[in-house]
Amino acid sequence: MIAGHYGLAAGVKNWAPRLPLWALMLSTFFLDVVFIFMYVAGIEYITPADPAHPSGYGSGLIHAYYTHSLVGALAIAALVGWVASRWWGRRGGIVIAAVVFSHWILDLVVHRPDLPILPGNAGNLPLLGFGLWETPILSAAIELALVLGGAWLYYRSALRLPSPPNASASHRRNVLAASGVTTALLLLLLASDVLGL
Ligand SMILES: [Zn+2]
Repeated sequence: MIAGHYGLAAGVKNWAPRLPLWALMLSTFFLDVVFIFMYVAGIEYITPADPAHPSGYGSGLIHAYYTHSLVGALAIAALVGWVASRWWGRRGGIVIAAVVFSHWILDLVVHRPDLPILPGNAGNLPLLGFGLWETPILSAAIELALVLGGAWLYYRSALRLPSPPNASASHRRNVLAASGVTTALLLLLLASDVLGL
């Protein structure tokens, strides 16, 4: 779901044009950034959902019981939003926190049931996940829609930023080039994810 997360960030740029795209991109992926550290520390890990198909698109059961628990994700989102509000004000902080948490919502849709409610899966409550990865075509199609929708909204928001007078033709060209490069990178990311590269 990597490309889908980033596509959402590009789309949010439309509603929060003052927030830099890198901050939105980082926010949408932030839970996985923390996951990488937890993974290196050996606290969180991935196992194949089906031992017969150990690798490839959406093939893992992700034991991210802290970063991807509902309460853990909310706490991380609140913390990142608070830090972001120092730079981009209260509203910017709220948008960033929402984008950080949106990662969990998208993961909830695609993951097999492996997302706990409480950190460390305390109390052994049921694990959550609608398991869209079981149908790779459908989840890849949803990611594609997020990337293309996000790219379109990003293009529109970028066009609205102030441009020097009499520079509208070259401004349009620059905006088109920037959105085009972003979209191409996201599509590449999606393709490599689906092909399991
Ligand atoms: Zn994740």
